[in-house]
Amino acid sequence: MADTTSTALVTGAASGIGRAVAARLAADGARVVCADANAVGLDETISAIERAGGSAAAVVLDVTDRDAVARLVGSADLDGLDRVALCAGIYRATPVDAFSIDDYRRVLEVNLTSSVALLVALVPRLRAAEAPRAVTVSSIHSQFAEAGSSAYAVSKAGLVAATKALAVELAGDGILVNSIAPGFIDTPMAVLEDGTNEHDTAGFRSVYVEHGKLPLGRPGTPEEVAAAASFLLSPDNGYITGHVLVVDGGLTATF
Ligand code: NAP
Repeated sequence: MADTTSTALVTGAASGIGRAVAARLAADGARVVCADANAVGLDETISAIERAGGSAAAVVLDVTDRDAVARLVGSADLDGLDRVALCAGIYRATPVDAFSIDDYRRVLEVNLTSSVALLVALVPRLRAAEAPRAVTVSSIHSQFAEAGSSAYAVSKAGLVAATKALAVELAGDGILVNSIAPGFIDTPMAVLEDGTNEHDTAGFRSVYVEHGKLPLGRPGTPEEVAAAASFLLSPDNGYITGHVLVVDGGLTATF
């Protein structure tokens, strides 16, 4: 089933949005290189793709490990690379009254610096591709504040800014670079420390569902985000670059 003329790299592919993006790109016909720090989750992603008839390879990778990133960038696994989806990310609360500079730095390092550094390192490969495309996964938190989210918000706002700057810089090479800004998506990231899903809490349901703050009235699925990534990364996207595609059930339209 796989059309090996297209090779995709997906970070964060062991879970949630990254897993769904990897599965979708494989279903679209790409050979997908799935990278993530979580080896067990990666195996599950690869098995699911292969069961569905797709082609995938696993790379256990901490995106903040520059040497490991350099090895991946130089590896034959990425020959023919033309699609990049940077989905790896973390959330750490950084509230004023329990502020941790280490957590703050880690959030910026994973979500912003490492994503940009990886994309920059991949540019020589993308320049050689026929229809090179990249997406970063930012967040509506780049435009909307919640208590305790300053590190996460800065990381995602920075990622949006970097996406636009790289889109402008790489347009002459024919490399289209966009960002997807998900809203509330049902993934393991929505599971709180006590094991409850944030989207099942009374507070969430009251504000976002019963009082209509979330127009579509439900969290999104990783597959709905993956559909947006699939389009932005496909040759069907010929003229969109430097754009932030919000996938949030209408939430930011209410602001
Ligand atoms: P997720 O299910 O937690 O998946 C994130 C994946 O990234 C996990 O497999 C995680 O591995 C991996 N990862 C974390 N740090 C890494 C590192 N240093 N190197 C390599 N892999 C690493 O979360 P998700 O919801 O799918 O999130 C995917 C992206 O969407 C993130 O960038 C997130 O900020 C963004 N986003 C999510 C939502 C949402 O509502 N879910 C909304 C807006 C934006 P571990 O499990 O080992 O940490």
